[in-house]
Amino acid sequence: MFIVAMLSSLLFMFSLWSQETFKVVVLGCHGGPKENNLSGYLIAPKDSNDYIALDAGTLLDGIFLAAQNNCFSDIKTDPNNELSLELDVLRNHVKAYLISHAHLDHVAGLVINSTADVKKPIFGIDTTINMIRDNLFNWQTWPNFGSEGKKPLINQYQYQRMKAAKQVPIPSTSMTAEPFYLNHPNGYLSTAFIIESSGSYVVYFWGYLSRYFGA
Ligand SMILES: [Zn+2]
Repeated sequence: MFIVAMLSSLLFMFSLWSQETFKVVVLGCHGGPKENNLSGYLIAPKDSNDYIALDAGTLLDGIFLAAQNNCFSDIKTDPNNELSLELDVLRNHVKAYLISHAHLDHVAGLVINSTADVKKPIFGIDTTINMIRDNLFNWQTWPNFGSEGKKPLINQYQYQRMKAAKQVPIPSTSMTAEPFYLNHPNGYLSTAFIIESSGSYVVYFWGYLSRYFGA
């Protein structure tokens, strides 16, 4: 109870338990109103350029800023490749999206850059996936780039529905992810993700840890 009370006071926490194992690129870290600084983080094992995007409020704009700051200096683009480094990162080095919840400040970059992206999975709990499916990729708000919902399905993003406390491997990376339910302000359901690689862990969450923390 003490732990719950203590952690409940934190709206947001991004904690590196093993800074020697992971590298993190901050694409944005606020809830608005500036659209180029919304929640979005890339994480990868330190020796890898295969990233997970933890939320994607700001995405490509953050990748441009990170590239200017040499965050991707070890990515060598093929000289025959017409893609810029930034588009190469977006398309080929972001291997999956893990979305804590589907508020716009956590998904705007994902939606608006979908026309420039390629096939990859979106991981989230049912509440998150359902909101993306029903409210965003629905052929009304935006074309249906998802793998469920209003037809025809473009199927660029394969929805991966996560179960609480069930660890899953993230394809094309050496990381796993395990979700836990959280309270977002106003009773909305959000998610914490525990990311694991080679026995080291990072926890990423946005919300209150009072609703649920267990199997
Ligand atoms: Zn929110």
